[in-house]
Amino acid sequence: MSSIVAGIEMGGTGCKVAISDTNGQFTEQYSLQVVTTTSENTLLEIHDWLALKKSERPFVAIGIACFGPVDLNKKSKTYGYITTTPKPGWQYVNVVGAFHDLNVPIVFETDVNAPAMTEAALLGDTSAAYITIGTGVGVGLVINSQPIHGLMHPEGAHIKVERISGDDYSGCCPYHGSCIEGMSKAQAVAERLNISPSLLSTIPDDHPVWNIQAYYIAQLCAATMYLTSVERIIIGGGLMKRQILFKLIRKHFHQILNNYINIPIITQNIDEYICPSQLGDLIGIQSALDLAQTVVNKN
Ligand SMILES: [Zn+2]
Repeated sequence: MSSIVAGIEMGGTGCKVAISDTNGQFTEQYSLQVVTTTSENTLLEIHDWLALKKSERPFVAIGIACFGPVDLNKKSKTYGYITTTPKPGWQYVNVVGAFHDLNVPIVFETDVNAPAMTEAALLGDTSAAYITIGTGVGVGLVINSQPIHGLMHPEGAHIKVERISGDDYSGCCPYHGSCIEGMSKAQAVAERLNISPSLLSTIPDDHPVWNIQAYYIAQLCAATMYLTSVERIIIGGGLMKRQILFKLIRKHFHQILNNYINIPIITQNIDEYICPSQLGDLIGIQSALDLAQTVVNKN
């Protein structure tokens, strides 16, 4: 059974907060878009909106799908914190702690594990990867219907890549240079073209830079599938609004596999294996609401 719950989608440039309807679903009427500024101001704005709306629409739990890296270890002193993010002013910020005084259970997850959970549930799968490609690259994983936690959470975007011939771009990950994130996030594509990332939308679909980018994302898809055997790979994020990327990623994915995996969804229905979100732009906030519902269902 579903209840009224609150959800927070914490992003590096914008956040969304919402209170669900009685079926746990997102409704525009009870939602607020917040620009991500300083950690204090951003968390306060979200907190105050929830505090204000709670009397009107009482929610019984909060789900937070947060950009990372985050601490998901409940035994850790920094559980519920954003940890070593390169984002200025957001290192070691206590996100969960900012909402304790609202007196409801809080479920905290990464902004990629949470969507993987929602997508797997919607599709009736017990495993899924959710990859996001935008200002960063992230990989969330659900296996046996559970989000992957352990040492921390999956960091698949930092796997080193094999270079596509002709691409001499050095990569922009401050830690690894040419890892998947360093070779395929928006900044990497823009730097190859010597333009600002804000102008990427002006580059036509047939520009060769998209084929290069797709090759690196396809390597991430192949590594994820080989290692985890997920039943589905969902790809979202700002850059994936460019539909041609799905076609290019699937093409490279097949070439990388080289017929090694002989399963119909891979050989015949690749469009269903590597696919966009079922919920489009709402996946982030709905997945935060769904997280909150998991604690309601436990009680
Ligand atoms: Zn890296």
